[in-house]
Amino acid sequence: MTAVDKEQSFLVIGGGFSGSLLATILAKSGFPVTLINRERHPRFAIGESSTPTAGFILKSLVQRFDLQELDPLTKYGLWSRHYPQISCGVKRGFSYFFHEPGSQIQITPSHDFELLVAASQSRETADTHWYRQDVDAFLFAYAASNGVACMSDAALTNAKYNPAGHWEVRLNSTGRLRQFDWIIDASGAGEVMSRLTGSPRRTEAPFVTNTSACYGHFRNVPRYDDLLTDAGMDTSDFPFPSDDAAQHHMFNAQWLWSLRFENGISSLGLVTDLNRRNEGDWEEMLNTYPAMATLLQESIPSAATPELRVSGRMQRQARQGCGPNWVALPNTIGFVDPLHSTGIAHSLSGVERLAEIFLYSQDTSADVSAYASDVYKELHFIDRLISGCYKLMPSKRHFEAYCMLYFTAAHNYETQRMESQANRTVPGIFLSDDPQMVDLIEQGFELACRIEASGDWTEPVLFEQQIRNLISPVDRIGLCNPELCSMYASTAVL
Ligand SMILES: Cc1cc2nc3c(=O)[nH]c(=O)nc-3n(C[C@H](O)[C@H](O)[C@H](O)COP(=O)(O)OP(=O)(O)OC[C@H]3O[C@@H](n4cnc5c(N)ncnc54)[C@H](O)[C@@H]3O)c2cc1C
Repeated sequence: MTAVDKEQSFLVIGGGFSGSLLATILAKSGFPVTLINRERHPRFAIGESSTPTAGFILKSLVQRFDLQELDPLTKYGLWSRHYPQISCGVKRGFSYFFHEPGSQIQITPSHDFELLVAASQSRETADTHWYRQDVDAFLFAYAASNGVACMSDAALTNAKYNPAGHWEVRLNSTGRLRQFDWIIDASGAGEVMSRLTGSPRRTEAPFVTNTSACYGHFRNVPRYDDLLTDAGMDTSDFPFPSDDAAQHHMFNAQWLWSLRFENGISSLGLVTDLNRRNEGDWEEMLNTYPAMATLLQESIPSAATPELRVSGRMQRQARQGCGPNWVALPNTIGFVDPLHSTGIAHSLSGVERLAEIFLYSQDTSADVSAYASDVYKELHFIDRLISGCYKLMPSKRHFEAYCMLYFTAAHNYETQRMESQANRTVPGIFLSDDPQMVDLIEQGFELACRIEASGDWTEPVLFEQQIRNLISPVDRIGLCNPELCSMYASTAVL
């Protein structure tokens, strides 16, 4: 039984992957849906590194809402065979290399400067980096092929809620007044509805994480593993090639992401911790870290980003996540940071929950409201997982131990979902609604705050032990294990 009458019409604002997916699910279920996107696909978009959690939720969407054509997007092997025209990159896990100013390309047998965490057991079952211009264009077209009225170069000029229970909106493309029963805001940083309904964006997002990024797409970036081999380093005990991963190069209060796509393009972004230093500068990074100068010496910007994009502070949170007959997807309600690649998974989890609500809820307004307040709590939880890492970045061992909180939360979320597949109740992303998980993350965060405040980095063994104690009741995969020398080969649920 559905609570929302199938006659009710939806306007989805924003044709990124999440808006297109939700629009498709609603249209396939019989609702009239219009999807507007301010730009025309294909267009550059950032936010590309997927995770097992994201793949897991996407698979669940495919099965639950009959989206078989999207099944290949859930694993690298299937994707590359079925959709070679949609560019992606293979992602076996997360790799981290710590660099000192002036240091050359290097690793050590005991892995004092590196950390590799596998997220899949093989290339076939690996996750992917989404080349967003291709993926988003594909999903926008997929929405259209499933009956969604898709409009490009389209935006709202005006929206007014009629207390009779519908929205009257005007679009720049037609100028006509149109009525919709529901509006779903998937505009990301556009925060269209929160702004239109008179709630300006908070000037300061209430997160501890405080970072900015400059980023772009490049060609001619060599594989870091090849540079290591050329420098005489032995990578034979890496559990997977470090380039087939979300590769992180860690500096002083900064880090660089490197994501390789199979079309020869690499996504690179320099993130700066504004709590510790001023906005980062690309040239300064190259001058300070010779290993990066070597990595990027022949790189050239791709056509999509001839100039580096500069973000300003990345953290944002909308004042409102829902209102009368409207609701926003997670990336429109807020965003924390690219560290841990949580964004795609969080967005997909919003698609999943809103689809459930609009298709099956008996009290749509109440459930929409509960969903939005959950998303705020999830953003806070994600901030805890991430900001502790920034606090501990000065010490590789402290940082590594704290990262294990994220891997614990993600692995338990996936496991719990696997074990309760028949159950329609979806837990909060990363078990952010599980009191035990919340408590252990809070305790870990307090430890991180204390260490940062003391500036004492001399006791990593103690901190590792404390994190191990915290996660031990829920750790099923042996995380934070010094005997592994930072090489985690098997953390995958599937
Ligand atoms: C620097 C950076 C790096 C990131 N890296 C990662 C990562 O590696 N992994 C990860 O999982 N996540 C990452 N993220 C997060 C990721 O980008 C988001 O989770 C993801 O983009 C969400 O997709 P979406 O479809 O919800 O929204 P978006 O991708 O933001 O799409 C919004 C769409 O709405 C349209 N729009 C905006 N305003 C209007 C309007 N007024 N009218 C009509 N249309 C409008 C836009 O044109 C766009 O097409 C990163 C984010 C940032 C900022």
